[in-house]
Amino acid sequence: MKPSDFPEDIRDLILPSSEGTMIYRCLGCGSEHGIDELLYVCPDCGSVMMLHETSGLAAKKADGPTWRKILDYRRMLNIPALKGIYRYHEFLGPVVPLDAVLYLGEGHTPVVEANTRLQELTGARFFFKNDGQNPSASFKDRGMASALSYINSLIKKGSMKEILAVCASTGDTSAAAALYASYLTDGIKSAVLLPQGKVTPQQLSQPLGSGAKVFEIPGVFDDCMKVVENLSSRYDVALLNSKNAWRILGQESYSFEIAQDFDYAMEDMVVVVPIGNAGNITAVMNGFLKFYEAGIIETLPKIIGVQSHHANPVYKYYLEPDTAKREFKPVTVKASVAQAAMIGNPVSMPRVINVVETYNRLSEKKNVFFMEVTEQAIMDCELLANRNGHIACTQGGETLAGLMEAVKQGLVTDRETAVIDSTAHALKFSGFQETYFSGTFPEEFGITPNPELVNAPEDVKAEGLTEFPASGAPLTGESFERFVRLTADAIATRLDLARQTS
Ligand SMILES: *Cc1c(COP(=O)(O)O)cnc(C)c1O
Ligand SMILES: [Zn+2]
Repeated sequence: MKPSDFPEDIRDLILPSSEGTMIYRCLGCGSEHGIDELLYVCPDCGSVMMLHETSGLAAKKADGPTWRKILDYRRMLNIPALKGIYRYHEFLGPVVPLDAVLYLGEGHTPVVEANTRLQELTGARFFFKNDGQNPSASFKDRGMASALSYINSLIKKGSMKEILAVCASTGDTSAAAALYASYLTDGIKSAVLLPQGKVTPQQLSQPLGSGAKVFEIPGVFDDCMKVVENLSSRYDVALLNSKNAWRILGQESYSFEIAQDFDYAMEDMVVVVPIGNAGNITAVMNGFLKFYEAGIIETLPKIIGVQSHHANPVYKYYLEPDTAKREFKPVTVKASVAQAAMIGNPVSMPRVINVVETYNRLSEKKNVFFMEVTEQAIMDCELLANRNGHIACTQGGETLAGLMEAVKQGLVTDRETAVIDSTAHALKFSGFQETYFSGTFPEEFGITPNPELVNAPEDVKAEGLTEFPASGAPLTGESFERFVRLTADAIATRLDLARQTS
């Protein structure tokens, strides 16, 4: 639909421009900093920061009901810059002009209701939101679209020239960073630092395929992170780890989409997300807060963050009910199939503490909860979900396990509807499925395969056959027909198929 065909009362509001005022605000000392420079941590105290719009742009433009109308009409636009996360431009990066927006097909991921069987097993009505259906197959694309659109706007303004985007990662962050940077061939190159020998060929393939410079560093992930931070403090590079507040900002789109996909009715809704570095849960809460403050939604949904018992620092922190007595302690992680969330000292912990407090206060009740689940439950739930038509990754299994646990504890009732996050595509983590099926998990995981969930290919060589086709050596004539008939019969026997009667 063309903008000129939109209803008159909102026509002027359909196409956003670069507007508003944005600042970084430090979560440690509260100081504020301009956004003309890319900052990762506070120049005054070294804490992480968050981005804020300070001119009241969204409220000045429209009230809640009008916003709902604008956003619903924007759905019908065929303008690439507004097809992804920037449909919510005023709530994400209003200073970014539309011609700097990088759109590679991210966002607006499917929300798929679980079938009756899976809902009955879980004890709750729920949907998976499939963030694995983003371009690089994880939700990290939301944040990269935001960070690189902003960097692109700086390049276009001429305030940044040749720029190198760097990150330390072994998984989805490097895949997303390399993909988005490769699209901006003119001004930007990307480099990924990986701990030598600690990555699988699959983890390597995405940044290599996107043409990023991939460096292998001796040591572990934390050592790579330190090198990257040193690089970004002394050289002209853009750090794309989750210290970068522009990334967290883009991930807020996940919540805007849930609100819109449920017609902005958030009463009795529960949103379940896995927690690693805790950037995502921060963004999800922040997104709902923004829509609530703008009057677009009237209720804040319940939030449930889930961690594995092998990497549970956030869960442990909130175990202490007395706010004054809470004390954050990093944990030493153990092996986890929810590998993308296997973090003992989350970068965004100060953000979580800050936003949870606001979220509960504005909800006028405790509305954010934390669950702990076992490695066994994560793996079993992933496989169970995928046997019922989903494409969940292990972190998606973690959210389903978390929902089941919440139902058990009476935290989610049959009045409520949950949306649970499959943060990546099943294929990215298929190695764990293979390990489960072959029963080869090292003891440290504590996972025993449930035979009912195990699957394996079967060899079929029909009895009585002596000749078989091979590549470059096909069978012909009678021997080929015999091969086809006897093989079909052998399969029919194994499947216990009935013969056609006519
Ligand atoms: C990064 C990631 C997570 C963890 O998200 P945080 O923002 O670090 O809490 C979970 N699942 C997948 C697939 C990820 O890539
Ligand atoms: Zn500070």
